Amino acid sequence: MDKLVSLCKRRGYIFQSSEIYGGLNGCWDYGPLGVELLRNVREQWWRAMTYRDDIEGLDAAILMHSRVWEASGHVDNFTDPMVDCRECKARFRADQIEDALCGSPAYKGRKAAKCQAEGKFTEARKFNLMFKTFIGPVEDSGAVVYLRPETAQGIYVNFLNVMASSRQKLPFGIAQIGKAFRNEINTKNFLFRTREFEQMEMQFFVKPGTDEEWFGYWKAERMQWFSRLGMEPSRLRFHQHGDDELAHYAKAAFDIQYEFPFGWGEIEGIHNRTDYDLSRHQEFSGKSLQYFDEQTKERFIPYVIETSAGASRSLMAFLVDAYREEEAPTADGKTEMRVVLGLHPLLAPIKAAVFPLVNRDGMQEFARKIERTLRPHFTVFYDDSGAVGRRYRRQDEGGTPFCITVDSETLQNQTITVRDRDSMKQERIGADSVVRYLRERLDLSS
Ligand code: ATP
Repeated sequence: MDKLVSLCKRRGYIFQSSEIYGGLNGCWDYGPLGVELLRNVREQWWRAMTYRDDIEGLDAAILMHSRVWEASGHVDNFTDPMVDCRECKARFRADQIEDALCGSPAYKGRKAAKCQAEGKFTEARKFNLMFKTFIGPVEDSGAVVYLRPETAQGIYVNFLNVMASSRQKLPFGIAQIGKAFRNEINTKNFLFRTREFEQMEMQFFVKPGTDEEWFGYWKAERMQWFSRLGMEPSRLRFHQHGDDELAHYAKAAFDIQYEFPFGWGEIEGIHNRTDYDLSRHQEFSGKSLQYFDEQTKERFIPYVIETSAGASRSLMAFLVDAYREEEAPTADGKTEMRVVLGLHPLLAPIKAAVFPLVNRDGMQEFARKIERTLRPHFTVFYDDSGAVGRRYRRQDEGGTPFCITVDSETLQNQTITVRDRDSMKQERIGADSVVRYLRERLDLSS
């Protein structure tokens, strides 16, 4: 993880929030490469989830009526048990003491569980994870609003609007990508547990009785999405929620877990939420959220199958999965270590880098021409500084799938070399076919 975190900073993927002021815990900024990667993760999810006839997109406001969070149960129940250490004053999530460390500099590396065993902890009390603020100039209880802790509620409250305007019939889904905020007691593991993050959620509304079939369908679809984008299948698994983990209203829940360097962790949840959410909003709003089935003339509240992924957590899993160190041959016949981010081409922030081999004889001008040809189609990077081997390594580390080099032969016969990031093999092609060549290999049509 340390190597990945430093690569992310060095290459402009992820920076600590407000770093020049000492940083803000649990918040991260996406640099030039990170923001492209995040956009690509979102784009692939959006395409997979909404470019089909039974799912509509939505972008609801982050601030919502505070009754929404009473209906959803978040005001009463979105809590984690918190304990304080009387000695070092650190706070811990009572259910996550196992890997926590004592907060006192005097006891560096000491397990918090030991302090707990010695009776240094207070009793656990409930801590609500929602960030609270006020709407308008008066800070009284009537003006309280919350930063949404999940995007799903924006979907439930728009169920009727979307259904009526899109003329959808069951089964159909609503998908949304957006920021969510949780005042986590302990943030940790880089982007894994942060206070501000992004979710990609889809709620699929179905007729009760067909819910189990749709649950199975979405479980398989979502697992395939990760492996289609290059994630190593052996590092992915399902974790089924046992009775002790399952929300009281949920009929079934599976997490998709990824094997991070610190262990298996959830990257997405697939939940059969029954008719709980719409029933609660019907009760609290006084508006009927029933569905009328024209064929059978029945009225009922639909069941919901939810797929809830973290965009930032998935991004981190894609980065971890792509990172590798390997031996590579150098120009003088030796070997050296190279760091590669083997990101799927659809996710790679920069699709191709363009280099003149040396800065003379018009190679720079030719390389700039190639760059201009590619720019309207792909994200590209031009680099003419330093030894070409170093330039390749820099692109390998950033995850760029192709490097295009202009050399002396180019000037004679208008051909260029294209180097593949993973095999390091070079192929010579006509400069005029470069767009088609990359398009075929970057699989951008899918
Ligand atoms: P956890 O048990 O890890 O706190 P959760 O079960 O509360 O997570 P959900 O409410 O199911 O998580 O959220 C759906 C997805 O949102 C998670 O699979 C994860 O990818 C993402 N997510 C949730 N909390 C965070 C967070 N604090 N930081 C980053 N991503 C998060």
